[in-house]
Order: sequence, then C-alpha cells, then structure tokens
Amino acid sequence: MTHVITSLCLRDNGCLSVCPVECIQPGEPAAQWPTFYIDPGTCIDCGACVPECPFHAIFPLDEVPGTYKAKGGEYINQTGLTGYYEGTNHNGDKVVLETTRVLAAGEVVDLKPSIKDNENFYK
Ligand code: SF4
Ligand code: SF4
Repeated sequence: MTHVITSLCLRDNGCLSVCPVECIQPGEPAAQWPTFYIDPGTCIDCGACVPECPFHAIFPLDEVPGTYKAKGGEYINQTGLTGYYEGTNHNGDKVVLETTRVLAAGEVVDLKPSIKDNENFYK
C-alpha cells in the first residue's frame, strides 16, 4: 500500500523532509502536475508525512475520501481549475498557484481522482 497526496495539497513542502525513504516529490511543471506526489513503489506507509501537512491533504490509499465535506475556505488544487492562490510554504518561500478553487462550507468533493493522478505521475 501507499499513502496518497490529494488535491488539497497547496505545495507547502512540510511533508518532504520527514519522509524516511524520500519518496515525496513536487510535481513539475506545476501547471501540469499541481501538487506533490508520493512514489507508490517506495512509500513504506509509515504515516510520518500525515501530521506535517497543514492542509490535511495526505491519506492512506484506502482512506482517500470519495465524499470529502469541506469546512469552507480550503482550496483544491488540480489541473483544469483557474483560481489563484498565494501563500507561504513551510520554508517561508512564496507559493503561487493558478490551478485552484476555494471550497464552500458543506460542499462535497471527490478526492479519489488524486489516486490516478499520483499513479500517472510515476508512469
Ligand atoms: S505538506 Fe501537504 S500541502 Fe505541503 S506538499 Fe505535503 S501534501 Fe502538499
Ligand atoms: S507514509 Fe511514510 S514513507 Fe510514505 S510518503 Fe509518507 S512519510 Fe514517506
């Protein structure tokens, strides 16, 4: 099994340095691969990355929500979206994303497509 980074990822970078097997990578170019990704062949499912993510974007593969209910105000980040996000990452560097959308409170979104996106990144 593996852990999966979903489209709630806003490239904060916090997970990268805690992974004991260094299997997390930023997607590049970001317009095509907007989030970070976990190499499923290397991930040892230790879970160390999960609490590091300020956006709660990382899930064990079999727990990626098909019906994620938004608190409101959080972003999803995926190709095809055109919203603008600007923030500061874990290292204090500026992050600008143009593939986002703000979720409304109570809105339900399927995060499972991130599983396929992650697989495709490593093809
Ligand atoms: S800590 Fe969360 S937001 Fe940051 S890169 Fe990792 S998964 Fe993405
Ligand atoms: S679960 Fe562990 S091995 Fe897998 S990506 Fe997260 S920190 Fe790395």
